[in-house]
Amino acid sequence: MAPIVRFAPSPTGRLHIGNIRTAVLNWLFARKTGGTFILRLDDTDQERSTEAFADAIRRDLAWLGLEWAREERQSARSDRYAAAAERLKASGRLYPCYETEDELDRRRKRQLALGRPPIYDRASLKLNDADRASIVAEGRRPHWRFRLANAEPGTTEPLPTMVSWNDCIRGDQMVDAGSLSDPVLIRGDGTALYTFTSVVDDLEFGITHVIRGEDHVTNTGVQIQLFEALGGEPPMFGHHSLLIGPDGQALSKRLGALSIEGFREAGLEPLAVVAHAALVGTSDAVQPMSSLDALAAMMAFEKISMAPGRFDIEELRALNARHLLTLPYAAVADRLAELGVGGRPGDARDGTTARRFWEAVRGNIGILADVRSWWEVVGGNVAPIVEEPALLAVALRLLPHEPWDEATWGQWTTAIKAETSTKGRALFHPLRLVLTGRESGPDLKMLLPLIGRKRAAARLAGQSG
Ligand code: GLU
Repeated sequence: MAPIVRFAPSPTGRLHIGNIRTAVLNWLFARKTGGTFILRLDDTDQERSTEAFADAIRRDLAWLGLEWAREERQSARSDRYAAAAERLKASGRLYPCYETEDELDRRRKRQLALGRPPIYDRASLKLNDADRASIVAEGRRPHWRFRLANAEPGTTEPLPTMVSWNDCIRGDQMVDAGSLSDPVLIRGDGTALYTFTSVVDDLEFGITHVIRGEDHVTNTGVQIQLFEALGGEPPMFGHHSLLIGPDGQALSKRLGALSIEGFREAGLEPLAVVAHAALVGTSDAVQPMSSLDALAAMMAFEKISMAPGRFDIEELRALNARHLLTLPYAAVADRLAELGVGGRPGDARDGTTARRFWEAVRGNIGILADVRSWWEVVGGNVAPIVEEPALLAVALRLLPHEPWDEATWGQWTTAIKAETSTKGRALFHPLRLVLTGRESGPDLKMLLPLIGRKRAAARLAGQSG
């Protein structure tokens, strides 16, 4: 059976490098296996979920190239959750509770003071019909808890009860259901909580693999019991490690700066972002990838490290630069044209100038838009930096006649060397400064024909142009 996976963000904020890693791993797994990738918007929290965030999530995923087979929204499925809740009530696994937050808080504090784990004591489970009737008469509305299977039949005292699964990333895993509180599945206002809605959806959508962050490991223990209580087979689970910053701290505090939108606005390439999200914290090197398919072919759960992945924005920027270096002209031609590269009067219509320009500068840019400043260098106005005027005077006199090609630079500098006995950096650096107005940059052998004789001569004479 082909896998069916889902990425289930809550539309309560922007996607960032941490949660996009979950999306990427799911998407690549589906791609590699011919499976289906579903976008599920976990929008049961009506107060914090917004349409604007839902739109932003779709926009970010589309920009990254992570298309989804279909979209599901939890807010449209409340009847399904109500029906599933009725089944759990009928089997005695969902029971009404009447404690207020304050009461629960006081109880937790008392338990902690006595050195006991602060788990729910199942007091509401012990109420009889008359107790319940009088509480309801006070106007209290119940919330509903899932009764974990962790006690002997006929008793409520939790006992150590291991829920185990073979995690596709972490191997054999265990959670002790005896150390957990019965989770609230339905709030006092009747709305269902994520722990529950997620399981109902995973069952109804036929999800085969739940791939998510390791912050959900404990949930998985509870959710496996829920799958079983609803008469379903639990899917496979895989919990990937979370990302930390270069200082070893959790990323969460700086996530605003690490949003996918922020990366887009910073001019990063989507494929570099996806490659970074997929490869960081794995046994593969973080490296430029030619396509999402190439990345999918490499993807394997066994390669994901259990240790936290270290995310450094500088590393992503470096990967972006390396990625640009791998791109052939055809892959960027349209975008270069939009950036104003090409189309100089007298240019060959086949884009020869733009192609040569791209091949010259692609190793010297951090983001694609950086080509603009190099386009200025070859075709715009540059303030030459004049050092060694005597040397530059000779260079001007020896400047070859056009047509120029990539051999011109070598011929020219050999002639200057012969006449001045200047060589190496002492020769090349003053030429670079005067021709480009910059300390460093692309290979001058490639830049020189793009600059052309007229501009080169003006700059050698110290004139801007
Ligand atoms: N909405 C949940 C989250 O963002 C989904 C977790 C899951 O994949 O089950 O944490």
